[in-house]
Amino acid sequence: MTAVNLLDFDLDGLAAFCERLGEKRFRAVQLMRWIHQRGESEFERMSDLAKAFRAKLAGAAEVRALPVISEHRSADGTVKWLFDVGAGNAIETVFIPEDDRGTLCVSSQAGCAVGCRFCSTGHQGFSRNLSTGEILAQLWHAEHSLRRLGVGRSGPDPRVITNVVMMGMGEPLQNYAAVIPALRVMLDDHAYGLSRRRVTVSTSGMVAKIDTLRDECPVALAVSLHAPDDELRNDLVPLNRKDGLAALLRACKRYLERAPRDFITFEYCMLDGVNDSDAHARALLELVSARGPAGRLPCKFNLIPFNPFPQSGLRRSAAPRVQAFAKLLLDGGIVTTVRKTRGDDIDAACGQLAGEVQDRTRVEVRMQRGRERLSTDGKVAAPVRPLAPEGPLA
Ligand code: SF4
Repeated sequence: MTAVNLLDFDLDGLAAFCERLGEKRFRAVQLMRWIHQRGESEFERMSDLAKAFRAKLAGAAEVRALPVISEHRSADGTVKWLFDVGAGNAIETVFIPEDDRGTLCVSSQAGCAVGCRFCSTGHQGFSRNLSTGEILAQLWHAEHSLRRLGVGRSGPDPRVITNVVMMGMGEPLQNYAAVIPALRVMLDDHAYGLSRRRVTVSTSGMVAKIDTLRDECPVALAVSLHAPDDELRNDLVPLNRKDGLAALLRACKRYLERAPRDFITFEYCMLDGVNDSDAHARALLELVSARGPAGRLPCKFNLIPFNPFPQSGLRRSAAPRVQAFAKLLLDGGIVTTVRKTRGDDIDAACGQLAGEVQDRTRVEVRMQRGRERLSTDGKVAAPVRPLAPEGPLA
């Protein structure tokens, strides 16, 4: 019998599992605290659980971490892990420390089916959805391995990761059933206890699912916009052909009725000569103004320097162009930031995970090298070589 992975469960799921073992709900709370708050995976060491319960767990369950293929550390503190999710697939997770927060960028799928033109992962296709356990294993590993290394804030709160963004590989809302329990564990006070404002789902714009997310688990919402009109967005983000920009903006407006933040974050990848003119900036201002399809839409823009890759046929906008674009938005009254590049020495620019994860040949080579390292020194594999910087945004 395959052992049940306890990382697959939110609190209700864990309680149902405990009931199947003939145990009361409070056992699920204890388990959740041991696993997620204390990072424990050995039932034997969960000292306040009855011995009989520990024996039952040992026969039926496990806390299944993801094998680490490599771990890259940047001089600026950014850490990027490459995890093995089987069958030649790998996913990436990035930790970005800042003075007042520690943000973890988490993947939701191996590959992606949306196929955005500027995204290397999108170019390389979709392998499969991650399970809830595989999504949470990224957070579990990052939080507790960093804690063990003494990374984090001073004071009584031991948590290193204060914010999670579902902005790694994949479109989270295309893996909705697995993402929702994972979000619930992130928010659960018996687990990571993050506030809804500190957990962000980034989507390329799945309108119906945005409504469902608002009703079921309204965390902060980021939308990969990248264009101010349907013609251009249909080309850059093919998913736009389904619903169109007007419907997307109306969904964003509806989301704000329940959202923990009072604005939507729009991600905008700056592509030279494609979407970066003054006219595009002015069209964006119009789109989110009172004259736009959803009326005035409280939002902020995050402008992202594009990381070129050969198949895209696209180029990064020059820095002065990005600044001029940002100034137009700011002058129009929209809070606008230009995404800083972090972890340059390990190619871990924030939110842009490696597209080469989907390149099976290269990943297999890297996995093999990682296994060789693991078998020789018994520790987390050292960096094999830097990863490609281009990657997903949604
Ligand atoms: S940007 Fe996001 S939604 Fe688009 S292809 Fe890449 S991972 Fe998928």
